[in-house]
Amino acid sequence: MQTRYFTISDYPQGTPARELFELHAQELPALADGEVRIRNSWLSVDPYMRGRMSGVTTYIAPFALDAPLEGAAIGEVIDSRDPNLSVGTKVRHMAGWRDIAQLPADEVEPLPSHDVPEQAYLGVLGMPGMTAWTGLNHIAEMKEGDNVLVSGAAGAVGSLAVQLAKAKGGTVVGIAGTTEKLEWLKSHGIKAVSYRDKDAAQLTEALNNACPEGFDVYYENVGGDCLEAALNTLKVGARIAVCGLIARYNENEPSPGPSNMAMILIRRARMQGFIVFDHWANYPQFLDEVGPQVARGEIDYTETVEQGLERTPDAFLALFEGANTGKMLVQL
Ligand code: NDP
Repeated sequence: MQTRYFTISDYPQGTPARELFELHAQELPALADGEVRIRNSWLSVDPYMRGRMSGVTTYIAPFALDAPLEGAAIGEVIDSRDPNLSVGTKVRHMAGWRDIAQLPADEVEPLPSHDVPEQAYLGVLGMPGMTAWTGLNHIAEMKEGDNVLVSGAAGAVGSLAVQLAKAKGGTVVGIAGTTEKLEWLKSHGIKAVSYRDKDAAQLTEALNNACPEGFDVYYENVGGDCLEAALNTLKVGARIAVCGLIARYNENEPSPGPSNMAMILIRRARMQGFIVFDHWANYPQFLDEVGPQVARGEIDYTETVEQGLERTPDAFLALFEGANTGKMLVQL
């Protein structure tokens, strides 16, 4: 049996070109003891993958050149030489960016059993959802009645962060880039502010208009002007969860920080970065809490889906153009 997979042969500078990604086909070896073969049905593309294309180790190693790229995927076991994983089991693993995966069974986990579509375990009930829940509750320590600001508010992480914050009794403002996203936010009772047509001063003014009392919590997905504007609108004692800084991921040179870091001091604010994998011991608690809400339809897990393995690089690159509302996925 053959597998088809994507590689990169160089670490890109700036925004990666589509030609960077090469599709290969290769005959798979016979299964070894303890291995399984999986037909992937859904692939995840995520902003953090850009960091793995930079050639340097951050909190995670870079992608190896000319080797299959990696990422979260969901599929079905089609062959097994492991007694604990039988053919037909639906699983999640990290051998994405390919159609057929072959890997040790101990690198594969059966899907949990909530009554949700399987791809939810790549989005709202997967790493992005766990990130939203962790950042809001454990890093920003959001409380009922807080005013909460979320950037990247209609993406995979942001779309759950805003809904969880609202459900917890917050007044929530979301920053997003497209009309579709602003409408999605408004349809969930969230005040929506566009950043696209504004510099930091104009964005500050728009946020002040949306929430004149200022924010207790800022959930940061973007950086750049969003961070600068958010710092201007903090209440005393505000907490900032630094989840992501996507506005800078394609920059070649280190960019200057916000000009108004003094606001951290003036507002006696706390700013804390986090990486979701450090909190993975809490994943069962997250699933117990959020899984039933998703299954009951109380949480909207909107998705943007590209069709076919060939479109995986396009789906990934579209993240940096804001083409996705909710989780960006590839369906095989
Ligand atoms: P999203 O689904 O939010 O997709 C990315 C979105 O970012 C785009 O849709 C776009 O929305 C916005 N965006 C892209 N480029 C820019 C830019 N230059 N300026 C402003 N906005 C931009 O991705 P995720 O929800 O998966 O991730 C959100 C953030 O969380 C990322 O920064 C990611 O790295 C981070 N993250 C961090 C984790 C952690 O452990 N700390 C784990 C998972 C994610 P728009 O149209 O609104 O511009």
